[in-house]
Amino acid sequence: MKYRTLGKTGIKASILGFGTMRLPILDENPEHVDIKQTEAMVEYAVDNGVNIFDTALVYHTTDRAKPGVSEPIIGEILNGYDNIHISTKMPSWNITSWEYFDDTLDKHLERLQTDSIELFFVHSIKDSYYEDIKNAGLYEFVDRALSDGRIEHACFSTHGSYELLSQILDDYDKWECVLSQLNYLDYEENPGLEAIKKIHDLDMGTMIMEPLRGGQLVGNHPKSVEDTFSKSDRNYNYLEWAFNYLWDKEEVNCVLSGMSSFQQVKENIALADNADVGMLTDEDKQILFEVKTEYEKLNNIPCTGCNYCMPCPFGVNIPKCFKEYNMDLLQDDSFNSVQYKFHLHEDRQAHNCTSCRKCESLCPQSIHISDELKKVEEHFGM
Ligand code: SF4
Ligand code: SF4
Repeated sequence: MKYRTLGKTGIKASILGFGTMRLPILDENPEHVDIKQTEAMVEYAVDNGVNIFDTALVYHTTDRAKPGVSEPIIGEILNGYDNIHISTKMPSWNITSWEYFDDTLDKHLERLQTDSIELFFVHSIKDSYYEDIKNAGLYEFVDRALSDGRIEHACFSTHGSYELLSQILDDYDKWECVLSQLNYLDYEENPGLEAIKKIHDLDMGTMIMEPLRGGQLVGNHPKSVEDTFSKSDRNYNYLEWAFNYLWDKEEVNCVLSGMSSFQQVKENIALADNADVGMLTDEDKQILFEVKTEYEKLNNIPCTGCNYCMPCPFGVNIPKCFKEYNMDLLQDDSFNSVQYKFHLHEDRQAHNCTSCRKCESLCPQSIHISDELKKVEEHFGM
């Protein structure tokens, strides 16, 4: 395993971090985590040098308004390990009062079976309500939690704009690490590679989420993208292209991967063992640029499958609708409504959307969900 210093936190972080938002599950219910398999995956990861484990209050829940099971499961499993670093995230979208901060932090501490959280993130700060959470006492709370030792390093995550990120960094000088999305398709937005460079220049840690864009970068690529990759002399598979794009950059400290199987843990660790700063040639970078250009021509919906928009009060399975739509666009054949119907019960399909727009403020990708669902509905002719 390779390690990079997580900015001013001083933590020597494994370049691969274990994300726990997609743990293996026993059935379709995200709360029914396969504990045995998770334990085996964690054990293998730790034995092979992974020392960053990332969770959040709302990972593995059926309803984002209530805490999920990832945090207590990871707290229990990691209780027996030394020399690992846990990061967790407090939902920023629920913050309305100063009482919320302390009550929620107490929950985190209890669920993780600890007195102090090493990497504490304010989760997914958005442009639309940043001022509100600031006014609710965000920075007074972080000051208090740092000084009484309940958190060691103050961190935040965002899918917001570059301007928002800059504002957050300007407003508070005790941030030590930022979690942000980056991959070879989305490096110009939300908040993008420029933001990662800025964070790094400020000597803060950089952690990356969505390296595989919710699995899309390792799924079926359209023929034009396959052809572009095949121009390379590299023997990289799609997973290698996605991870190596990130590990190539000195500004990237730790890449989180939400791993769902033992096989994924093994594959990811094997890749991390061979990764290094500057590993990509100019030709490699040109290939990835051409791949991005091909994808832009397809104009698909940039949904990462994070589930933050769920549940929809009218039953629509939003991420699944988008996934089926995107997958269908990846095929060069004409559309296939059979797969859509097969994977989605009628009550969960896009046509059930009433355009109430309740979900849209929750989407970190700022997708106009109701408009896109209309596109899905029209595409599949439902
Ligand atoms: S806009 Fe549509 S998908 Fe979103 S919550 Fe309303 S009905 Fe559900
Ligand atoms: S629509 Fe947005 S919030 Fe919903 S799953 Fe996709 S990316 Fe996540």
